[in-house]
This record gives sequence, C-alpha cells and structure tokens, in this order.
Amino acid sequence: MQDFSKVRIVLVNTSHPGNIGACARAMKNMGLANLTLVQPVEFPSGVAVGRAVSAVEILESATVVDSLQSAVADCGLVIGASARSRRIPWPMLSPEQCARKVIAEQAQNTVALVFGREDSGLNNDELQLCHFHVQIPTHEKYSSLNLAAAVLVICYELHKATLDSETAAARAEDEVWDQERATGEQVEHFYEHLERVMVAIDFHDPTNPRQLMQRMRRLFSRIRIDVMEMNILRGILTNIEYNIKRKKG
Ligand code: SAH
Repeated sequence: MQDFSKVRIVLVNTSHPGNIGACARAMKNMGLANLTLVQPVEFPSGVAVGRAVSAVEILESATVVDSLQSAVADCGLVIGASARSRRIPWPMLSPEQCARKVIAEQAQNTVALVFGREDSGLNNDELQLCHFHVQIPTHEKYSSLNLAAAVLVICYELHKATLDSETAAARAEDEVWDQERATGEQVEHFYEHLERVMVAIDFHDPTNPRQLMQRMRRLFSRIRIDVMEMNILRGILTNIEYNIKRKKG
C-alpha cells in the first residue's frame, strides 16, 4: 500500500490559481495529499477549485506560508524541481531517482518536493535550500513544462515506483540510518552559526563572500547531515566562539 503522508508538495509564489487547482488534481491522481503554498498570488480561488475537480479537499487542507524556509523547516529531505542547470551545479536526480529516494526516505524523514514560479522558476536562494534538484528530461529546445504538468510527472514517478518491486529492495539496503537527518530549520541555524564563526576568525568577509556560503550549503546538502553530527559541529563552533572570547577577555 502506498503511503505518502510524509511527502509534501510545495508550490512557490504561484501566479495562476488554475495551476494550483491542476496541481491538486495531479496530486490526488497519484495518491498525494499534502500541499503547501508559499505566498500564492491568488488563494483561495474559485478558479483553483474549478480546476481541482475532485481534489478540492487538497486545496481546503493546503497550508499557506510566507517563505520556502518555513515550508521546509521540519523536512529531512528537500528536492527542488528545476528546468535549468545553474552556475554552481547541484546534486541532480532524474524523476525516477527522485521517486526512489523519496520512497526510501519517507519512513524516517518528512520530504518536500518544491516547484517554482510559472515565469521564473525557483531563485538561487530557494534552490540552495534543497538537498537535490530534479530535472524532467525534455526536448533541448524547450525544457520548461507547465507547473501542473511538472508536478504530475514527478508524482507519477512516485506512484509508479511504489508499484515497482526494485524499490522495495532499494529501501531495504539503501538509506537505513541510525539517526534522523537534521531538519531544514536545524540546518539553517547551523549555517548562521558557521557564518558567524567564519567571520569571527577572519576566514570569511561578508562584503566579499565569493560564494563561500553557497559552497558550504552544497557541501552539507550533499552529506545530508544527521542530528547527532549536527550537534557535534554546533558544539565545535560554540567552543571556538568561547575560546575567542576568552582570549580577547
Ligand atoms: N521558466 C522557468 C520555468 C518555470 S515552470 C524556469 O526557467 O525556471 C514552473 C516550475 O515547474 C519550475 O519552477 C519547476 O519547478 C517545474 N518545472 C518545469 N519544467 C521542469 C523540468 N523540465 N524539470 C523539472 N521541473 C520543471
């Protein structure tokens, strides 16, 4: 039996309410129910309800939040859907790999699948909140799908993967971990702390950042640090701060 109760679809700053409704419909078709909207331009909306058809309950129970950070604050795995490759390349998944990863992880972690604006997608800061990016392969001349079509493809792969016996084997051998992964919120606090300490020891100049924090984010995203490891790193940073103060004092 498929259970996607810990999988959340996040739509960032959607302009057209019709797309929100069509996304809800695509989600229900594929057995997903949790929808979070980050600053939707128009919501609630009759147009969205019309396009959702029999998936209105997904709109009714949707959560509306102010920022992507708060949408993923409790998530241990965040995957952002993006049509374009970026300046600093990020770990990239195919829709099939994405589905396998989500299914393997959802027992332990809340998972977010993040989709961007119709016109400009996800910005760099938003993409950096994701552990992985997923790209739907398309014709090279036109890579940008309609938002709801992109949600449908990703959710379809998820649904299909639950029917796939290989996934069960992958789940058994992959990703079994003794600790929970650090959540988005814990990792954000860590980045703030890390940046503060790097400034304090004169390693990092915030007026000339040279993509340092972006690279740090990519490093720790790749590792997908767990709660115990995060506590160790925070402890190290705290001791560095303590020692700097002691020396100065
Ligand atoms: N012009 C935008 C695309 C916006 S489409 C851009 O270049 O980024 C709206 C959203 O649908 C995107 O932010 C992304 O989350 C998803 N999407 C569209 N096409 C996609 C593709 N080929 N692969 C993965 N996600 C895609």
